[in-house]
Amino acid sequence: MTDSPAPGDARAVQLAERLDAVRQRINRAAGAAGRGNNPPSLIVISKFHPAEDVRRLAALGVRDFGENRDQEASAKAQELEALDLTWHFVGQLQSKKSKTVVRYATAVHSVDRSQLVTALERAMAGEQELTGRADLDCFIQVSLEDDAGAHRGGAAPAAVPQLAEQLEAADGLRLAGVMAVAPLGADPDRAFEKLLGVSTGLQRDFPGASGISAGMSQDLEAAVRFGATHLRIGSDILGSRPTVR
Ligand SMILES: *Cc1c(COP(=O)(O)O)cnc(C)c1O
Repeated sequence: MTDSPAPGDARAVQLAERLDAVRQRINRAAGAAGRGNNPPSLIVISKFHPAEDVRRLAALGVRDFGENRDQEASAKAQELEALDLTWHFVGQLQSKKSKTVVRYATAVHSVDRSQLVTALERAMAGEQELTGRADLDCFIQVSLEDDAGAHRGGAAPAAVPQLAEQLEAADGLRLAGVMAVAPLGADPDRAFEKLLGVSTGLQRDFPGASGISAGMSQDLEAAVRFGATHLRIGSDILGSRPTVR
């Protein structure tokens, strides 16, 4: 399944090693959580890193990539169109960008308000008429902050049921589940336990909404313990990036 990197491509060798290390961590965590036969899927977050790195990772068998800015994502998706990759949009999304995001994204992990659902539904109507593309997978991003002031994005847990109903009723959108980023400095176990609680509540009303997008480089083990189905890993595979933005 995994190709060897081209000889002399030191970056490809480095990526292969880091990818392997992350995959081992995921397998270990899944095994420890009794999920050895049901491990989460890996989405490599390629923001700030060039399309060439995505190409190298694709050659190593990675199919799912995530980005958090429309302009960068759109350019990479276009450049790498022939590879037929799956693109996940994971960043704060302005409603007016919906039209371009639905051109390349299979999933949006950051649906956090009613207005955005409306905009995505409208954008998908146009896109599906044009291309017949599949429905857009939508994860509701949940804020896990105790203090609503210190925000890393996301809807309050109490707002999830209403957003879920709106998504469920929307043409062209599929309610995929929930997503969260663990609050800075907080215990990730506590954060992801809370997210699992929100997910469990959601699945009572919408059994198909079983996705839990959680876990980044620093906290993937905690996320796996609390049921993550999709891990979003950037820096532990691709290396550091500028800390601003
Ligand atoms: C950047 C980013 C990630 C990846 O984070 P790493 O710490 O680099 O693994 C995951 N999720 C979101 C929403 C991101 O913006």
